[in-house]
Parts: sequence; structure tokens; C-alpha cells
Amino acid sequence: MTERHSPRVVPLIDQRSASHHTPAAAFSPDTRIAANGLLSDTLGRPLRDLRISVTDRCNFRCNYCMPKEIFDKDYKYLPHSDLLSFEEITRIAKVFVAHGVQKIRLTGGEPLLRKNIELLIEQLSALRTLEGQPLDLTLTTNGSLLARKARALKAAGLQRVTVSLDGLDDAVFRSMNDVDFPVTDVLAGIEAAQEAGLGPIKINMVVKRGTNAHEILPMARRFKGSGMVLRLIEYMDVGATNGWRMNEVMPSAEVVQLIHAELPLVQLEPANPGETAQRWGYADASGQHDAAAGEIGVISSVTQAFCSDCNRARLSTEGKLFLCLFAAQGYDLRSILRNENADAADLASAIGHIWQGRTDRYSELRSAMAADTGTGIRRVEMSYIGG
Ligand code: SAM
Ligand code: SF4
Ligand code: SF4
Repeated sequence: MTERHSPRVVPLIDQRSASHHTPAAAFSPDTRIAANGLLSDTLGRPLRDLRISVTDRCNFRCNYCMPKEIFDKDYKYLPHSDLLSFEEITRIAKVFVAHGVQKIRLTGGEPLLRKNIELLIEQLSALRTLEGQPLDLTLTTNGSLLARKARALKAAGLQRVTVSLDGLDDAVFRSMNDVDFPVTDVLAGIEAAQEAGLGPIKINMVVKRGTNAHEILPMARRFKGSGMVLRLIEYMDVGATNGWRMNEVMPSAEVVQLIHAELPLVQLEPANPGETAQRWGYADASGQHDAAAGEIGVISSVTQAFCSDCNRARLSTEGKLFLCLFAAQGYDLRSILRNENADAADLASAIGHIWQGRTDRYSELRSAMAADTGTGIRRVEMSYIGG
């Protein structure tokens, strides 16, 4: 069964122009914060992961992210002059890395639509963590342009990719991307990424009950033993336009049960602190993890909050820093970047003060409210700050 657009789509309220002020203390000589990797927020969470949105445009119209009714031909995307240039992104990324960031994920919109993205990847891949290591540099894509670009991305220094794929059935996939894009082209992109060495590849599947839940088992069978990690994501109430309802969320516990009934699973330890996915390995006949069969991940952003160790910051396409995927507003870093009297130390102090003041824990609060409507907090769109 496939689904067309929900009639409950909520009109878009543009949150992009509003922003929080950077605390004035950031620029006062007595209270400046230098970047030394020791930053932590009000809940003791460090800053380790930066997601950078390089475009707010996309060639898909997934109805859970950019519903066609809102993102139509009249929708006003950001003008090019508002976008951070590659040089600006690299300058800002350098400061984040000095604050302790070890992982950078490029996202969007569809990041492969940004012209010459390879040049940005080249610049970012030259950065080193405080320990002198290369960054964990990755990118999330809908896979539509991957067959063409995989080799160039690898040559530029990209380590791996995450590809979004919501099902293997062509009709389901075409209906979910809502631009009639064929699944075979994304599968060809995944193959090209594997051949180029952009691994280990993760495959992101957003599960919507009543839309693609019947694709979970075919997806699990297909990627078991492939060296790729299928990650099943609970449909989230991001943004304000996707008409989210709790009864369309399939809890991860149910997803695990469904797969386990056919392909037995054992729970695995998290690989890193702050990891979003819970790991489950395919079991062998004796009930032990069979490493060759691989693993899946489930991301339970709705039913099981994981805010307590969330170390992720998000940089929007035009240079606003968001402290949570569900934040209503960001902090304008572009104005500091483009101020000729400001330097990297000013930027570092601004980021330091903003992170130190961070209180965000949206998913935990939503769980506490246990309502099926979210918290009522107004949020920005996922296509604008990235996933
Ligand atoms: N266009 C790229 C893609 O689709 O991979 C990158 C940007 S997209 C916003 C990043 C991730 O967010 C994708 O894996 C997508 O499936 C996921 N996503 C978007 N809207 C979502 C929602 N409402 N709930 C859960 N995941 C969502
Ligand atoms: Fe585009 Fe990715 Fe959003 Fe789908 S999830 S509309 S591919 S940005
Ligand atoms: Fe992090 Fe916000 Fe998600 Fe919680 S809701 S895990 S704070 S991004």
C-alpha cells in the first residue's frame, strides 16, 4: 500500500529570518572563550559532531520532509548570496574542530546538488582533529547523483556516505520521493559508492506505518551480509509542514521484533558515545553475533529520547548554528564571518558561549509530554538544517 500526500499538511511559517543573539560576553575581553576542546553545555555534553547543510534545495519531494504542496515552484529558496561559500564553511569548520569536533557530515537539502561540492570536501579533508587525526568526513545523500559522482567524491577525500532509501519496491519508492524517481538509479548509486570505496555505507530508511513498513523485511534481507548497515529511522515530527501524526510512527522496538522473527538479532554495544542508532547484529545458529552477516541500526528519536549524550551541532545553509534538530531558531554566525573586524578567535568565543548556554533536549521533553501532537514548539524544516 502506498500513500499520497496527507491532507493535514500544515502551512509553512518561515522561521528562517529569525535568530537568537550571540551572548555579548563572547566579545568582551574578560569573558572570552578560547577553543581548546574542553567545551561542554549546561547538561555536561561536549561538542563532537557538526552537520553542515550545503543547500536548501532538493530534487526529491519526500512527503515526510519537503511536501510538494509547500515546496512548489513558488517556494522561495535562499538566494545564492545568502549561502556560505566553501571558503566560509571551511573557516567555520576549522573553529569547530578546534573546539573538539571530530566528525563532519555534509547534508542538505540534497548536498550533491551543490555545484563543485568536491572542492569543499577537499578543503575539509585537510583539517585535523586536536589529536592530529583526519576528521570522520561523511555525507548523507538521496543517492540520485551518486552513480555519477562517487569516484570524484572519494578522490576529493570523502571517507564514506549514508544513502537514504525508503524501500526496494519501485512503486513505493517513486511515491515516497514524489518525483517518480526510479529505485534502480539509487541502487546503481549505492553500487558505485561501494566500488569507489566510500564505505562502510549506511542506508537510511524512514519508516512510516501504512506507507513502507512492508518494505522493512525486503530491505533487511537485501542488505544482510552486504557490508552495508541498514538504519531504520522512526518518522519524526521535524519541521512544521509534513503533517506528522504519532499513529504513522512505527516504534523501533516493533521494527526490531519484526526483523528478529525472521532474521534473529542480538543487541550490540554502542560503537561511540552520543551515537544516534541502537545497534543490533544478525545472530548465528548459536545466538552469537555473526560479524559476516553484519548489523542494523534503529534510530528511535520519537519513542526513546537520546538527548542526554547529544553532542551534535548543525550549521544551516546560510550560516546559522542550531543546537538541536528541533530548534526553532539558530544563531547567526555568518554575520561574524563576514565582519571584517572579527577574526577566528571571535568566532571561537561566540561558538563557545552559545554551546555553553545549550539546554536543548527536545526529544526527552516530547516523551515527557506523551502527546501525539509534539510539544507545540515551532521548528525549522529538516531540508534547511539537514538531518
Ligand atoms: N537529501 C539527503 C537525503 O535524503 O539523504 C540529505 C538530507 S535529509 C534531510 C537527511 C536524512 O533525514 C535522510 O535520511 C532523511 O530520510 C531523513 N529525514 C527527513 N525527514 C525526516 C523525518 N520527518 N523523519 C525522519 N527522518 C527524516
Ligand atoms: Fe530531499 Fe532528503 Fe528531504 Fe528527501 S529527505 S526531500 S531527499 S532533503
Ligand atoms: Fe539532540 Fe535535540 Fe535530537 Fe535531543 S532532540 S538528540 S538534543 S538533536
